[in-house]
Amino acid sequence: MLKIEDGIIIGILNMDEFAAGSSTETSYYGPTQNPAAMGRIPGGSSGGCAAAIAAEMCDISIGSDTGGSIRNPASHCGVVGFKPTYGAVSRQGLLDLSMSLDQIGPLANDVSGIAVALNTIAKYDETECTTLDWEKPDFTEVLKDTSLEGMKIAVCSEFIDVTDDEINKTVNKAIQKLVDAGAELVEVSFDYIDLCLPTYYLINYVEFFSATRKYDGREYGSRIEEVCGEEVLRRIKIGSHIAEAEFSGKYYKQALKARSVIRGEITSMLENVDLIVGPTVPKLPHEIGTELEPMEMYAYDILTVIANLAGIPAASIPAGEVEGIPVGLQIQAKPLDDLKIIKAMSVFENTQ
Ligand code: GLN
Repeated sequence: MLKIEDGIIIGILNMDEFAAGSSTETSYYGPTQNPAAMGRIPGGSSGGCAAAIAAEMCDISIGSDTGGSIRNPASHCGVVGFKPTYGAVSRQGLLDLSMSLDQIGPLANDVSGIAVALNTIAKYDETECTTLDWEKPDFTEVLKDTSLEGMKIAVCSEFIDVTDDEINKTVNKAIQKLVDAGAELVEVSFDYIDLCLPTYYLINYVEFFSATRKYDGREYGSRIEEVCGEEVLRRIKIGSHIAEAEFSGKYYKQALKARSVIRGEITSMLENVDLIVGPTVPKLPHEIGTELEPMEMYAYDILTVIANLAGIPAASIPAGEVEGIPVGLQIQAKPLDDLKIIKAMSVFENTQ
């Protein structure tokens, strides 16, 4: 679609293997540097996408976001990243990580890049059963807006509690700018924050295991288990274990139930407000090569997996810096309210 609209494709970018990661350190090709904070990870899994934008190598890059892989690197590299409503962009051509959560979306240096990209790629695709046939807005129509009068935005105390203080301070200043532009700020609470990571990873492991059964040696000469990296192998092994009949009811089906509860809670939160605003990632990007346990690495995803579990649109826009390192403001909305996020980001950008 980008080519049809005369987009010039200049390359393919680095990422964590099978999009399973938040640092780009599990790439077969090795880690990518963060151009905005040299020596540190660019985030992931679409780390190359964010780094290429931050280094001004291209105007737009296209990443995938299953649990934050567009927003996390956008936050760490100081660029804008957008995960559309689940189904707003076709997944055709994407290799599955976790098919019920995967979503394609754009990264760019400014909101207009995101809007132009969305106008091009957010389309109903009759060859892809999860795409939505919806009345798509013109995403560029709000680019000159300077007021958020009439918009209700919410901060969630549980999101603040899991985030480092310095990041919260920077994000709060950004939220104040939205209020200065006319938005009404309210506080909401979310009871299921502790349920999000276990639910996300359980679904991810099982769906990834299932998606990788096609790499059985026929097409590439080796079975995936024989050639993949450590994190991919971990997911396949645990996913295979959970998928066994006696465990499926105990874990996977429970995770699907937990996901419905999370989705219900987020949807009802969004009935009374237009947007939920807060930090994108609770920690700063670590130095490349820092040894982290899987659970420590997964903790980076706590604030981003929620949008995927709920199927809602979510974006990250640079909020400011902590110790010279970029920090993102995350903005989330109801399904198909993607334009409201673009509007809030445009107003934010126009007031800078
Ligand atoms: N970091 C998360 C994971 O490893 C999200 C990955 C993604 O969004 N592709 O599953």
